[in-house]
Amino acid sequence: MNEFELIARYFTRPTRERAGVGDDCALIDAGDVTLAITTDMLLAGRHFFADADAEALGHKALAVNLSDLAAAGAAPRCFFLSLALPRADEVWLAAFARGLFALADTHGCALLGGDTTRAPELRVDERAVDGPLTISITAIGEVPRTAVRTRAGARAGDDLWVSGTVGDAALALAHRSGEAAALDAADLAVCRARLERPAPRVKLGIRLRKLATAAIDVSDGLLGDLGHILERSQLGARVDWPAVPRSDALRQQPEALQRRCALAGGDDYELLFTAPASARAEVLAAAAGAGVAVTRIGTMTAHAGLEVLDADGALLDTTYRGYDHFGR
Ligand code: ADP
Ligand code: MG
Repeated sequence: MNEFELIARYFTRPTRERAGVGDDCALIDAGDVTLAITTDMLLAGRHFFADADAEALGHKALAVNLSDLAAAGAAPRCFFLSLALPRADEVWLAAFARGLFALADTHGCALLGGDTTRAPELRVDERAVDGPLTISITAIGEVPRTAVRTRAGARAGDDLWVSGTVGDAALALAHRSGEAAALDAADLAVCRARLERPAPRVKLGIRLRKLATAAIDVSDGLLGDLGHILERSQLGARVDWPAVPRSDALRQQPEALQRRCALAGGDDYELLFTAPASARAEVLAAAAGAGVAVTRIGTMTAHAGLEVLDADGALLDTTYRGYDHFGR
């Protein structure tokens, strides 16, 4: 059973809300606005290395949640922070809070509550070791009631777009594990910044209100996350691999690694969205206004299934899977 089957089987029930389990945010109508609510947990040893920079962690813990709000087109309003800390390390806490509030202030998002506990001490081979540092954030944003967007609204014939470039965070990880070809210091710094300090596409998400028919933020890999739009919109898609936007650093890597990082890497926090072909100029203007590049990478199809085509029209292997906590 994979992560998504597990959620579908045990934690998915009918709801009268506009969106819930299975979307980037729950969407709850409250007067003229719709509240978008999302929660994400980061666990040491699973989502980040135990030696990760505390300031960057503070940034990333909030960024991944703001990225889900961006997918829904919501403006960040406030957030809640829950921590399980192995110890009260003031140097660590000061740096973590600095990274957290720098991003929160950029987006006018207030911390309004949370919970703090001590992570339990564990015994490994008779030795006492710290339980994992765990950071869980719940973020709340707002969208005008008439402008809500989910993963489910794509239509056959819509263009498929992605913001920024994909695969850089995965390249930083591949470099760390020795799988990447040589990467110069400047390129490595760019890729590490993408991994450690992702920029949630909040402005773009807001400007795409009423233009994008569906959206998701790419957290688990482009094709895997596209699969969630296909499933919820009950469509297929054709993706043009040469069009998939990649950084210069990634383009210098072997083709197989480029594909793996860009199509299945994860941790990109770019927006993957659909929009009618008639809205192309408006989409480009929205992106220019948000200061982010967007690239058209394919088309939504009425027939189910995902096809990824090479420059010569040949079908590429699409078994690249997104990140799955319980997959093999
Ligand atoms: P995202 O990457 O956008 O944060 P996830 O892949 O983590 O989303 O989760 C997929 C969907 O399943 C989301 O709608 C999330 O809210 C929901 N979900 C995940 N775990 C649970 C759970 N334990 N109970 C209820 N819903 C869950
Ligand atoms: Mg998401």
